Amino acid sequence: MVTMAIFNHIPMGEKGLFELFTWIDNYVKSNKEFAIKRIAGRSQDHKLEIPAVFVTNKNIPDDNKQISIITLARHGQERGARVVGPEILNYLSTNDAKPIRDKQIVIIVPILNPEGFILDEFHSSMYGITDTEKEVLGNLCNSYHPDMMVDYHSLGRLEGSKYDHGDMEVIIPANTTKWGMDEQIYKNTADRMVEYCALKGWPFEVHTLEDLANYYFGDQETGKIPWKYLKEKVYLLNIQDFYENYNLPNNNNIGYTNYTCGPAYLKWHTLVFGIETNHWSLKAEDIAMSGLAPCVSLLKMGQEKFPWEKTEGFPINLLYGDFRISIRAIGNSRSEIRKNREEIWNEKDKFNILQRELINPETTLARIGYTGDKFPLRLALCLRMRQKTIKRVLIEDKKIPFETFKDVCSTFVYIPLLFKKTGLLKIKIIHEIFNNDYLHERLI
Ligand SMILES: [Zn+2]
Repeated sequence: MVTMAIFNHIPMGEKGLFELFTWIDNYVKSNKEFAIKRIAGRSQDHKLEIPAVFVTNKNIPDDNKQISIITLARHGQERGARVVGPEILNYLSTNDAKPIRDKQIVIIVPILNPEGFILDEFHSSMYGITDTEKEVLGNLCNSYHPDMMVDYHSLGRLEGSKYDHGDMEVIIPANTTKWGMDEQIYKNTADRMVEYCALKGWPFEVHTLEDLANYYFGDQETGKIPWKYLKEKVYLLNIQDFYENYNLPNNNNIGYTNYTCGPAYLKWHTLVFGIETNHWSLKAEDIAMSGLAPCVSLLKMGQEKFPWEKTEGFPINLLYGDFRISIRAIGNSRSEIRKNREEIWNEKDKFNILQRELINPETTLARIGYTGDKFPLRLALCLRMRQKTIKRVLIEDKKIPFETFKDVCSTFVYIPLLFKKTGLLKIKIIHEIFNNDYLHERLI
């Protein structure tokens, strides 16, 4: 197979870093119509710049775009991650990526740890993001709260792994909670990334954060798993540092994962993944091409409409509840939805258990209660219905506005609500009696 990778070698040392920086400068120069470079910060010793490249169609207002941030090479000796950033940038300049440039602002930080790069050493932290990273990601995220964020690492023969020595590449869903069906949504998206990579010829696997703990904390000789807790999501509570954060004004306390995107998930419900390429078994061009594949897959998912989402985009607006009844972010533009999503996500533990009941064949009763104090709080209540036609939605026998959208076999009723005070709302949804029209249509 002929690969068209940008780098056919791993850049090494100071010379290698500047080779990469020169490539970035040339890329921005020759793609002026959609690329700009900003300095997101400086290395710990202040000697080196940390560039971030913004790629987006400058003729379309940013207000209605999604924001994707991709960071790479935070661990200095994980050489594989060095060649993936240019490959992603190169992809973003192609015709295939035009729809992505139109609908997303993609921010790439190709080398998050330039000092570690030159030293070819870890030069980072095993116990959280570094002060430099807090500053760099604080600078970026303060103005660009990401909808999606990926952090690239690279496994080598031994680096970062006591578990698989050699040639593993993995996609890591980095969600640290199960709120709003996230476990299922991350499984769905990660599986699709794996499928896409497979079609391109790259065998990736999905490993969860718990699996990841095996790489670091398992016993190398015996393969013994360190804690039984490893099999439980609650295990994460033991390793999260709730006081860690990006340097943002008005920070709330949020948590940590091995990947730079952990705090973004906890603060903004960003769709977050870690990706481990591998520099022990693969040639530079193969690392670049295999590393590119899951990123392309994910960026393209941001262009689609997921069956349970009202509009196209990354599947991040189901914030509480499940696919049958849920609380959703609402707004007329991407930036409005983003803002509302953050408001709701930060109040997610202040809702009662959402309830629904089919009280007669033509009426579904839903209950939603809010106990917090962030008024007014806007949200949409969303129910997945068997019935095709929704006739009316009522609160205390008064009609209220609603919208609907469909997947292949059901109707979602989407009800904008405004909480001005603490309380419980009882909402009646009047619909047709279910008959299996859908099935008949399908049989024809
Ligand atoms: Zn790493």
